[in-house]
Amino acid sequence: MADALLDRLGIADHPRIIAGYSGGPDVVDGVVGSVNPTTGATIAGVKLDTADSYERIIARAHEGFLRWRTIPGPKRGEVVRAIGDELRAHRDDLGRLVALEVGKILAEGIGEVQETVDIADFAVGLSRQLHGITMPSERPLHAMREQWLPLGPIGVITAFNFPNAVWGWNAMLGAVCGDTMVWKPSLMAPLTAIATNELARRVAESMGHHGVFELVIGTDDEIGERLIADKRLPLISATGSCRMGRHVASKVAGRLGRTLLELGGNNATIVAPDADLDLALKGVVFGAVGTCGQRCTSTRRLIIHESVADAFCDKLVKAYETVRIGDPLAEGTLVGPLINERSAEAFEAAVAAAKAQGGTILTGGGRAETGLGGAFVTPTVVRVPSGKSLPIAMEETFAPILYVMTYRDLDEAIALNNAVDQGLSSAIFTGSVRSAERFLDPSGAGSDCGLAYVNLGTSGAEIGGAFGGEKDTGGGRESGSDAWKAYMRRQTCTTNFGEKFDLAQGIRFE
Ligand code: NAD
Repeated sequence: MADALLDRLGIADHPRIIAGYSGGPDVVDGVVGSVNPTTGATIAGVKLDTADSYERIIARAHEGFLRWRTIPGPKRGEVVRAIGDELRAHRDDLGRLVALEVGKILAEGIGEVQETVDIADFAVGLSRQLHGITMPSERPLHAMREQWLPLGPIGVITAFNFPNAVWGWNAMLGAVCGDTMVWKPSLMAPLTAIATNELARRVAESMGHHGVFELVIGTDDEIGERLIADKRLPLISATGSCRMGRHVASKVAGRLGRTLLELGGNNATIVAPDADLDLALKGVVFGAVGTCGQRCTSTRRLIIHESVADAFCDKLVKAYETVRIGDPLAEGTLVGPLINERSAEAFEAAVAAAKAQGGTILTGGGRAETGLGGAFVTPTVVRVPSGKSLPIAMEETFAPILYVMTYRDLDEAIALNNAVDQGLSSAIFTGSVRSAERFLDPSGAGSDCGLAYVNLGTSGAEIGGAFGGEKDTGGGRESGSDAWKAYMRRQTCTTNFGEKFDLAQGIRFE
């Protein structure tokens, strides 16, 4: 199946790919195996870049930038439109490759590529709206305006769990902004990266634009470190763990470069006593169990009013026990595998810590027997004894574990929501406008996260809004709204169209 899929995606004969490779995910002689997490079998080998090939790639992206930035924005938008069409045409195959390579269920794999198509559409419109503002000058016969200029070749580092869409958020916007991309994907999803980048690169080259979409694949030590230290890349947009973000941020800051950071989350949903509990149940189950808990926006904590907690937990456990775990490509499966054995061990360690710290496992807590070979676990609900806090619940474990804690008044619930280091996504289910608006309090005293939902779960963002989070999540914003500004540089322009030399602030210098 995999060979036919790679063929349909036009990469079966790609020079980086070694069909029939028998090695695993560890790098051996410059090759990494892309492993199907469902079975543990290697799909293909991928040849990694070296210091020399890195230099060639950066040179292409730099030369490409010098040309690409001269193409008017709306014309760049036409290229992105054609890329969006190509992605549309290959959406289902590319979505299948995502599912195969990172173990998402097929609907989510296809949904991820749809997200890239959507952001491409968004970027096409944006290509005609990269506008600055004018402001009145304090001096007569002077004009002031602000304009936005292309930034340069940019480094895009992506996490394994969104191997296509995170590139899309960055690359579609970056491309209309006049930047060129040097994408360093996760070594756990190199085939999706090759297929995605090839689709975009071929379209751009067929329209005469070379060096816009470049891909560099390599280890963090050899290629990652080189990329983040590279002064030729004025912006590093990095998605991944807080640990990685802290390191990348300090390295890039050391060379006074810019970072756009999209890091970990520890997202909570508050369920108020006046909530529509059926709606809340759907939001919590999808948020906590979807993508096997491997979304940055996965629901990791449920903060529920004590008056409805017991009844809600009963329903939650019943819902969890009907969730089908298995082959993500099979119809009816809702939960696939974790990405690898290391993740399953982290899941087990977190469950053990939760128990040791006083939590009660209401359901799940162990391995799921599927007979498929991958690292499958059972989605888990841990009840936190009232009045206690579990230190493990304050951490992001990238697995389907939901910690349930109770509250008495809304201020307490909001304080619990805000009590973690990360600040990505948050949600409240309530029928009360007062509670909803308290959660969204414009003074900033409500949720401290970058995303705040009312009567929706924590995961499943639309591309129209700016996506990202505060505190240890890194503060970056990608995707919609005015996130494009991160990919450009701002210039304040002042013209004197009179005949006098006037200084600002009335300074005389004669
Ligand atoms: P990770 O931090 O292990 O790796 C992410 C990327 O960083 C990979 O491409 C990796 O190779 C690269 N990297 C690591 N060290 C590097 C270095 N020294 N130099 C350059 N690159 C380096 O994360 P992961 O396990 O792939 O993904 C899961 C994490 O990503 C979770 O914490 C999740 O919350 C987060 N995530 C965040 C968002 C968001 O938008 N906020 C989206 C998806 C995933």
